[in-house]
Amino acid sequence: MNIDLSRRGFLKLAGAGVAATSLGAMGFGAAEAAEQAHVRAFKLASTTETRNTCTYCSVACGILIYSKGDVAAGEEAHVVHIEGDADHPTNRGTLCPKGAALKDTVLSATRLTQPRIRRPGSDTLEDISWEEALDKIARALKDDRDANLIETNDAGVPVNRWTSTGFLAASATTNETAWLTYKVVRSMGIVGFDNQARV
Ligand code: SF4
Repeated sequence: MNIDLSRRGFLKLAGAGVAATSLGAMGFGAAEAAEQAHVRAFKLASTTETRNTCTYCSVACGILIYSKGDVAAGEEAHVVHIEGDADHPTNRGTLCPKGAALKDTVLSATRLTQPRIRRPGSDTLEDISWEEALDKIARALKDDRDANLIETNDAGVPVNRWTSTGFLAASATTNETAWLTYKVVRSMGIVGFDNQARV
């Protein structure tokens, strides 16, 4: 929804907001609620709503991310607001303090947004492409599994244990993604498997 709010219109709205707040303080709660409902439409005007999952813990609360910028038109999208998803069965729109501060995490200047590597002998981390990172991980996994997979125990019973590599997954995910991750990790024989929430 595009709303063209002139300077005069904004001042009138702001004045109405102050008046309504004052009325609320005097006991005119209905007037204040009506004013808040009126202002809310402007808060998210011209934004794109995207459903997602809070990244912090295994509760995996549903969130709504609002961004401005038309990606289809070649513009860069910027996150302007994040709030709880009222339709999500886990949190029904609520968020804990960490979730409520998610926008700061997303927009943090120190947030890691691409893979990094510390090469042998180096004391610094350098950015690499996702392509290179995935190739390196796949190569390392294959080499280590070929060298260390335990196919049978002392009694000759097949066990297919791979104990020299561990896998740390993310807990904030869907059941389907978690099931697929579990299947891939266990089918390779990895024993050490955990996520950041330890569940
Ligand atoms: S909002 Fe809080 S409780 Fe919900 S997933 Fe995020 S960190 Fe966990």
